[in-house]
Parts: sequence; structure tokens; C-alpha cells
Amino acid sequence: MPRTPLVAANWKMHKTRAEAGSFLDEFLPGAADLVGVEVAICPPFTALATAIERCGGTAVTVAAQNVHDEPAGAFTGEVSAPMLVELGAWGAVVGHSERRRLFGETDAALARKVPAVLAAGLVPILCVGESEAERDGGRTEEVLERQLDADLAAVPDERLAEAVIAYEPIWAIGTGRTATVEQAAEAIAFARSAIARRDAGAAAATRILYGGSVKAANAGELMAAEGIDGALVGGASLQSEEFLAICEAGSR
Ligand code: PEP
Repeated sequence: MPRTPLVAANWKMHKTRAEAGSFLDEFLPGAADLVGVEVAICPPFTALATAIERCGGTAVTVAAQNVHDEPAGAFTGEVSAPMLVELGAWGAVVGHSERRRLFGETDAALARKVPAVLAAGLVPILCVGESEAERDGGRTEEVLERQLDADLAAVPDERLAEAVIAYEPIWAIGTGRTATVEQAAEAIAFARSAIARRDAGAAAATRILYGGSVKAANAGELMAAEGIDGALVGGASLQSEEFLAICEAGSR
């Protein structure tokens, strides 16, 4: 089953509204020529409206970097999926390793978030991945299976393929240490097989991205590998020319 590649820019806590606008003024004209690849920009909450407005009428979509599982309530500092829908967002990153590690996001919370995001009509980009110690200890597959099983548990089978999975080995994020094509493809194949144990059709249709020090110089070989359906890009997505080159590398 053909899966359209997706390249997503995770800006983390970077870019004011003005900076987001300047980036998109530079990026969007080139992005208009992209074929066979979808592009999503994930700015901080404060720049979402600016990005959504600038991307209006283009094929570039905009996603948040986090979301709460409840639609409303006494959750100071949080933002809900219906609020993102009202803004015109397309999706939300959930389970990024920085949120898991620095902000205590648990698989139990993700088991609520992923179906809540889908139910609101947004696309979840669910990040999974092992630490360096877990890889060295031969536990990569165990970690991926545990995260995928838990985080997707409450998603109905018929909606599984709407979620995007990002395989992001923690040791490769922001370190300049990219996984080899073989390591990325092997882990992604395992993740797909873990989803297939629940629903083979959904697994074949689910986009699974690679994330971890992707840049223009390595994006082409990573995204050309069997089963790697695009990239979640942190640092290298902050510069418009570099990010456009990565998107071009994902074009099929
Ligand atoms: C990320 O933040 O999801 C990421 C992959 O970062 P980087 O590309 O900087 O490693």
C-alpha cells in the first residue's frame, strides 16, 4: 500500500511569531513545488496561529507539539485538542522524548492523548524510541513494543492507520549522532510488525517516520530506505533552506 511520505519540522521552543512568519515567507514559495511529500510545521503554541494563517491556501499543514487529553477543564498551562482544531491545526506531536523525560509524560497519559487527538479530528504524531542504555542492553524492541502497545491501546482498530508514528532513538535526538539507515529501518520494521500484531492492514497503511539528527546531507538515504515514510526534524528544521532540502529529499 503506498504511503505518502511526511516531513515534519519540530521547532521545539524556538521562533517567535515574527520569526515563524519570516521562515514561512522564505520556505513556502519553494514548498509549493514539492510533489509526493507532505510537510507539517510544528511551532510553539504562541506561533501556531501565525503559521496556520501563513500556510493557508498551501499544502503545508501545521501541528502542535503537545496537547492535553481532556477537551477542557482545570488543567493550568495546558491546551486541548478542540482548541487546536478551532485554530485550524492539522495535528499534534505527542510523546516526544523531551516531554517524556523532562515533563513526566507517561504511557498512561499517552494512552488517553492519542485517542483524544484522533477523536477531535487531528492527526497524532506519536514519538517512540529507546535510550542509549536500552539499545546497548539489547532492549530496543522491548521498549518500542511497550510504548506502541500502551500508547495505541485505546485507539480503535479502524483508526490506527490515521496515527503517524515517529521512531526517534533518544541517543540520536539533538546529538548529531544519526542512526544508521540499517538501524532506523530495522527499528521501524519492528514497530510496523508490532502494530501488525493488532491489525495487519493498519500496519501496512501507517506512516512511520524516522527522527534524530536528520539533516539535508543524510535525509535522502534515510527516506529512501524501505519502510521509512519520512522524517521528524528538530534542529535542521529551523533554517528554511536546509528544511526545504530535507523535504525535497523526501519527495517521491
Ligand atoms: C526532534 O526533536 O524530534 C528531533 C529529531 O531533533 P533533532 O533533529 O535536532 O535531532
